[in-house]
Amino acid sequence: KGPDPDVEVIAKKLANIKHKILVLSGKGGVGKSTFSCQLTYVLGSDPQQRVGLVDVDICGPSVPTMMGVGDEQVHESGNGWTPVYVADNISVMSIGFMLPSPDEPVIWRGPKKNGLIKQFLKDVDWDDSDDMEIDTLGAGESSGLDYLIFDTPPGTTDEHLTVVQYLKQSGIDGAILVTTPQEISLQDVRKEIDFCRKANIKILGIVENMSTFICPNCHGENIIFNPTTGGARAMCHELGLNFLGSIPLDPRIGRMCDNGKSFTEEFPESPAAQAYIQIVDKI
Ligand code: ADP
Repeated sequence: KGPDPDVEVIAKKLANIKHKILVLSGKGGVGKSTFSCQLTYVLGSDPQQRVGLVDVDICGPSVPTMMGVGDEQVHESGNGWTPVYVADNISVMSIGFMLPSPDEPVIWRGPKKNGLIKQFLKDVDWDDSDDMEIDTLGAGESSGLDYLIFDTPPGTTDEHLTVVQYLKQSGIDGAILVTTPQEISLQDVRKEIDFCRKANIKILGIVENMSTFICPNCHGENIIFNPTTGGARAMCHELGLNFLGSIPLDPRIGRMCDNGKSFTEEFPESPAAQAYIQIVDKI
């Protein structure tokens, strides 16, 4: 079996996107999608930066709701599917937009999932804006986003393997791993680290989410999930990886996610928003 020609088609399609970053986690529910959305908002808070967020979670796409575009439809244009815009410089595309019903579970085997992801990578038209010099582009090329963030499902799944296989010629800058402090979550992050190493993907760093809770009344900091093994910081130290920072628990994050609003924009002074902003600064 020869090389898949679609690898090249996808590389061409994504050639003008400057940075491609994967967001991974070992387990679900650790705040990976929330992080992907906040990363997108913080990068996009600079109007000069054009940012795209892709959700490749077939079984549990949460990006449309978190970005406030759950009811949107994607349109097919001459060049493929047009992403949904949440701001002039921020666009979102979710595999959830392409599934028949948001409430029905997707029960698909690997090859069908792979086919959809491949089509998704090939056919989304990030080349959108009127102000870009589209005329200068070659056939099949698209104009430049500064960042394309991939929110992936938890664990190491068919979706990851497909994304990595099809992006290998397009160049991935690296992966950010999100975890909570408990050893049970860190154990699974070690598997993600191993996956990145085997797949030759640089690990940009590890984010620890829900590290502490800062009381809104007395401002005292409480540890909710006791990191028996020293948490993500100690793991980074042990494995020679970059520790990007800790995000405290803040109930308003869940509320903002459910309402499709940017937490960092709504509560910029909060310790959690500051943590997101500082982490993005380090990337
Ligand atoms: P994952 O993508 O890892 O499955 P999500 O990003 O969907 O996790 O987050 C799971 C839930 O936890 C969501 O309801 C989200 O709003 C909430 N959440 C994430 N991070 C925080 C945090 N730091 N403080 C409070 N709630 C959070």
